[in-house]
Amino acid sequence: MEQTTCLIAGGGPAGIMLGLMLARGGVEVTVLEKHADFLRDFRGDTVHPTTLDLLDELGLAEEFEKLPATHLDSVNLPIRGRNMQVATLKNLPGKYKYIAMVPQWDLLNLLAKAASEEPTFTLRMRTAATGLVQENGRVVGVTYRSDAGMGEIRADLVVACDGRDSTLRAVSGLQTIEWPVPIDAWWFRLPRHESDPAGGVGVLGDKRFVVMLDRGTYWQIATLIAKGTDAQARQGQVVDILKPIAELVPWLSDRVDALDNWDDIKLLHVRLDRLKKWHIPGFLCIGDAAHAMSPVGGVGINLAIQDAVATARILHKPLLEKSVTDADLAKVQRRRIVPTAVTQGMQRTLHERGLRPALEGKLNIAGRDELPLALRVVRKIPVLRSLPPFLVARGVLPEHAPKFARR
Ligand SMILES: Cc1cc2nc3c(=O)[nH]c(=O)nc-3n(C[C@H](O)[C@H](O)[C@H](O)COP(=O)(O)OP(=O)(O)OC[C@H]3O[C@@H](n4cnc5c(N)ncnc54)[C@H](O)[C@@H]3O)c2cc1C
Repeated sequence: MEQTTCLIAGGGPAGIMLGLMLARGGVEVTVLEKHADFLRDFRGDTVHPTTLDLLDELGLAEEFEKLPATHLDSVNLPIRGRNMQVATLKNLPGKYKYIAMVPQWDLLNLLAKAASEEPTFTLRMRTAATGLVQENGRVVGVTYRSDAGMGEIRADLVVACDGRDSTLRAVSGLQTIEWPVPIDAWWFRLPRHESDPAGGVGVLGDKRFVVMLDRGTYWQIATLIAKGTDAQARQGQVVDILKPIAELVPWLSDRVDALDNWDDIKLLHVRLDRLKKWHIPGFLCIGDAAHAMSPVGGVGINLAIQDAVATARILHKPLLEKSVTDADLAKVQRRRIVPTAVTQGMQRTLHERGLRPALEGKLNIAGRDELPLALRVVRKIPVLRSLPPFLVARGVLPEHAPKFARR
């Protein structure tokens, strides 16, 4: 029978970071990732100052700096062709005064490579966790499916890091609270020309919010749409959705007929939910598996990574001693519930006050003559221009690498 000490399902930001830290602490850990690589589009590219600090503490900052990156140090809203700064990260405390935009697959590859240097770390790609194995009221392992067939791995602790559609959370019987979300997202690619501006672009227009990530030879574009409007839009032509985007980003108008098939436009369902209880004996959920995040603020990756750090810090000793109790798992939830609730609260406010009216056509910032009153006040008062970025970039209760994981 296959056996490990900590079985982690899911090789996203939460799973790989947890695997790396525990392995550095000498815990035998196995990560199962259902895909063959980390190369999936639109998983978010934002690496916040708290994560940058952490990479420093882990001795990975130098490697990270070699990755292709752009730095976001202010938030600007274009209105009638002018760029208005509504937030700045330049006054943040600490070394990093920007959010780094780095393709997520590069970050995950870097973390996985560092983890693979540890003798107690195993990463099994193309291996999907399919269920929980339970004995006497305790989770004692998982079942999985891989190219070699079905199997079972026993573990002292199973951690679900398998994202917002978590298979393991679904079979665990843990209860969720879900909040209505007014948005979904389309994503697609358009060719990028040498003459295009470099770096990311974000525009809030009439019933459209467009985010464009610079991938060198192409743009990866996400458009937020009102929830439930995808099916009706698909009755029309693809060009009907590209034209309004080109109105917001005029230099894209030469590419509106680059796509002609709805299969090129992927729909991402946005959800916001949270488990009431994150654990049962022998089993813990963290990251999106415990609290699915909306893309608003680009905070989900960093929250998932912070969950992983707290989990490693709290459970490292009990795992080494093979004595993880339900009380230990409850400590993880107690530590992470406040940052999660505060962040999801901010996302809910932005959904209702910003995105819902914007997608209903009541907040067409790009087409206005001046910013809405609230944003004008924010621009005038420096502390207000720095506070929201502080909450997004540094968050509540930031985690630091425990000694055993530092290099
Ligand atoms: C449209 C959209 C855009 C977003 N943009 C951003 C952004 O720009 N910045 C940001 O910070 N956050 C963003 N988010 C949120 C962010 O993606 C998540 O909060 C974050 O990725 C959570 O990390 P995670 O490790 O918990 O889960 P995930 O990143 O979802 O990783 C889960 C991993 O588990 C694997 N997996 C799934 N099921 C199984 C299984 N049964 N067995 C084995 N492996 C499995 C998956 O392949 C995946 O690799 C966005 C979310 C959405 C919906």
